[in-house]
Amino acid sequence: MPEVPQPDPRRIAENLAQVRARIAAAAARAGRDQAAVTLVAVSKTQPLAAIEAAYAAGQRDFGENRLEELWPKVEMAAQAGLGEIRWHLIGTIQSRKTPQAVGPFVLIHSVDRMKIAARLSRDAEAAGRVMRVLLEVNISGEASKHGFAPAALMAEAAALADLRGIQVQGLMTMAPLEVEAEATRPVFRGLRQLRDALAAAYPAIDWRQLSMGMTNDFEVAVEEGATLVRVGSAIFGQRMA
Ligand SMILES: *Cc1c(COP(=O)(O)O)cnc(C)c1O
Repeated sequence: MPEVPQPDPRRIAENLAQVRARIAAAAARAGRDQAAVTLVAVSKTQPLAAIEAAYAAGQRDFGENRLEELWPKVEMAAQAGLGEIRWHLIGTIQSRKTPQAVGPFVLIHSVDRMKIAARLSRDAEAAGRVMRVLLEVNISGEASKHGFAPAALMAEAAALADLRGIQVQGLMTMAPLEVEAEATRPVFRGLRQLRDALAAAYPAIDWRQLSMGMTNDFEVAVEEGATLVRVGSAIFGQRMA
């Protein structure tokens, strides 16, 4: 059996400091306030010890992409006394799992089609809750990517706003994995421009959040207006799984 490497708390703290500094520098280059950018530490596949190390270094926003992993971690972290964590659900939700996406999560980044929005809203209403969500958009148009097509979202936004169990707060996208981070810029710029167009067309909806940028490209995303960056390996190291 391969040995599971123990997380090194000092390394994680150093990595976090570096990522925060790079976010601050990118924000400064774009004339933005770094406080307008929230770093979501993507802890998928990482053990609780890695989350504890990041928490000890001041990190509070954590993201997981699978509900099967998120729920046990919410409980483990609470039992370990990490009481201030804000959990983000960042991965695709299968339609039969929308009831499990109603929970103590500060934001769901990955509502990627009308059917999921409608089911999630229904399940949230049944639980007496309103879930805050971002709409995932397929800006790059790659067949492998999830998300609303931009034109479809323009047409469907009014119907989304009518769903009472969810509250839209903005948009999310995944850029193609590029060798050169710079090549992702048009995707991030495209998400921002779509957001601006939606905000003009639907001023009653809150479009303020832009979740974009990962380890490979978060600085470009910050330069293009990201308010949330989702960074995993630059903080925790390469994932085993
Ligand atoms: C894994 C994941 C990330 C983080 O990826 P890294 O390249 O490790 O930073 C961000 N967003 C989503 C949706 C992910 O699944």
